[in-house]
Amino acid sequence: MSKFQAYLVFGAPGAGKGTQGRALGTVPGYYHFACGDVFRSLDLSTPLGRQFLDYSGRGELVPDEVTIELWKTRMKQAVEAGAFHPEHDYLVLDGIPRNVRQARMLEDTIHVCRVFHLSCPDRRKLVERLKRRALRDNRLDDANEEVIRLRLETYDQESFPVISHYGEKLVERLDASMSPIEVLAKITAVLIKDRAGRAGEEGFSAPE
Ligand code: ADP
Repeated sequence: MSKFQAYLVFGAPGAGKGTQGRALGTVPGYYHFACGDVFRSLDLSTPLGRQFLDYSGRGELVPDEVTIELWKTRMKQAVEAGAFHPEHDYLVLDGIPRNVRQARMLEDTIHVCRVFHLSCPDRRKLVERLKRRALRDNRLDDANEEVIRLRLETYDQESFPVISHYGEKLVERLDASMSPIEVLAKITAVLIKDRAGRAGEEGFSAPE
């Protein structure tokens, strides 16, 4: 099987990955996969559900093996259900890969077309957004300042190196402090340009 054509939406907690990923996922030809949403949808009384609660409650990443296995299972289901068509849909990955090891583990399954790095050096802005989201979405990991601090630390130490793993040529840096609609406009402009560049390519044809 050929690899999934993937765009990564990348950034610290609160940078807006989910907002952008969900918006793109409503466009035909783009399938949004949000790793955190998949974890949250688990039955939390199962061993994996409990593992997720333990790790996310400490601001840590869930271990790579179970994360990648869950991703593979869900992607297989999406293909079988006809929700994702690998031969002509782009996969929009949000929250995965989240460290360099996961990026390596996904190498034979996905081809990364580009990485959208939602960059937000102003940490206060991120914390503010997370606290607002805690109230709106009832997310425990957003409600506690100490957990937020640990998640940002995990991002710096484990996730941020993913950017240099893919290298400058693939990474499109965007200012995450812009409004969601402005970020979306920048992303879609790049997607349209990429699409034109791929016209006529063999093996993959984005829908009209
Ligand atoms: P955010 O990026 O805003 O922190 P997510 O919903 O993407 O929120 O992730 C919530 C939690 O789920 C993370 O803190 C982590 O514990 C877990 N998680 C999500 N994606 C992954 C992943 N790819 N690998 C390991 N853990 C993950």
